[in-house]
Amino acid sequence: MTWEQLSHSQPTVVKMLTNSLKKNRLAHAYLFEGGRGTGKRQVAQQLACSFFCAHSVEGEPCGECGDCRRVHSGNHPDVHWIRTDGQTIKVDQIRHLKKEFSFRGVESKKKVYLVEDAEKMTPNAANSILKFLEEPDGEALAVLMTTQYHRILKTIVSRSQVLSFAPLKPDKLVKQLVKEDIPEAQAQTVAQLTSDLEEAKDLCEENWIAQARTKVIQLTDEVSKRPRYAYLMLQDGWLGFFKEKSEMQTGLDLLMIWYRDVIRMQLDQQNELVFFDQEERLKDEALMASQMKLGNNLTAILEAKRRLDANTSPQLVMEQLLLRLQEG
Ligand SMILES: [Zn+2]
Repeated sequence: MTWEQLSHSQPTVVKMLTNSLKKNRLAHAYLFEGGRGTGKRQVAQQLACSFFCAHSVEGEPCGECGDCRRVHSGNHPDVHWIRTDGQTIKVDQIRHLKKEFSFRGVESKKKVYLVEDAEKMTPNAANSILKFLEEPDGEALAVLMTTQYHRILKTIVSRSQVLSFAPLKPDKLVKQLVKEDIPEAQAQTVAQLTSDLEEAKDLCEENWIAQARTKVIQLTDEVSKRPRYAYLMLQDGWLGFFKEKSEMQTGLDLLMIWYRDVIRMQLDQQNELVFFDQEERLKDEALMASQMKLGNNLTAILEAKRRLDANTSPQLVMEQLLLRLQEG
């Protein structure tokens, strides 16, 4: 990994860090916040490399020296990953570290602490980390990482430089998912629903998203071709599959993506289709519906989502939505 490579996914964060590295002006503590899969860990590791590497050029570590190699393999003696194995990161875990450092007669005075799930630090643990950073007899760097910025203690936020990791762009997310053997049609679909890699993978588990797509394709097919059967499909197929409230919302999101695809079809934007494997069906619908009707469909779906949120019965919400989708 190089900063150059990392800058493709997180240009702003990388720019800020490399600028500070070049000027030799790193902060003592960084707080990396952002969704899962946005590269916080890789950037933290790269920062540790730059911090130790004696051969770095313009902040770019050499990647080959002992320090670089040990940081990457995860066994540099002065780089400490702190992860929680339970609900919280306790002060003991950090005290233990401190002891370890003082016993070992470390190679250098430089130390790096990398804390994952920093929102789980107890106030004591957080204070004790912050104290490390103020020790006069050495250089220490702490990188705290979190996906839940709102839960981070104020004392930490005020004493660290906060860097926000941008959500993964849909095309990057799709690439990642395809690399992990998820079929492209599914990958394209989940990338519209979330920018979080882990959440996207969860949605793909046990073919859930594949089945959900099929439900949407079936329902819209019935609505446009056999309106009288749409109710049957709703009862048997839809309500039986999207059971939890969050699943119902996802079902509606997918329905919305479908009608947006129909609009894309009308606008000749075939290469931007999400349901790209359904081009023929989308073409049929695009020929049948006016743009105004499609706009109304999207409004009706948004309304249904709002009502679901307000705890209206899913059955009622969906039946009324069907009626509106079927209006001429
Ligand atoms: Zn190096």
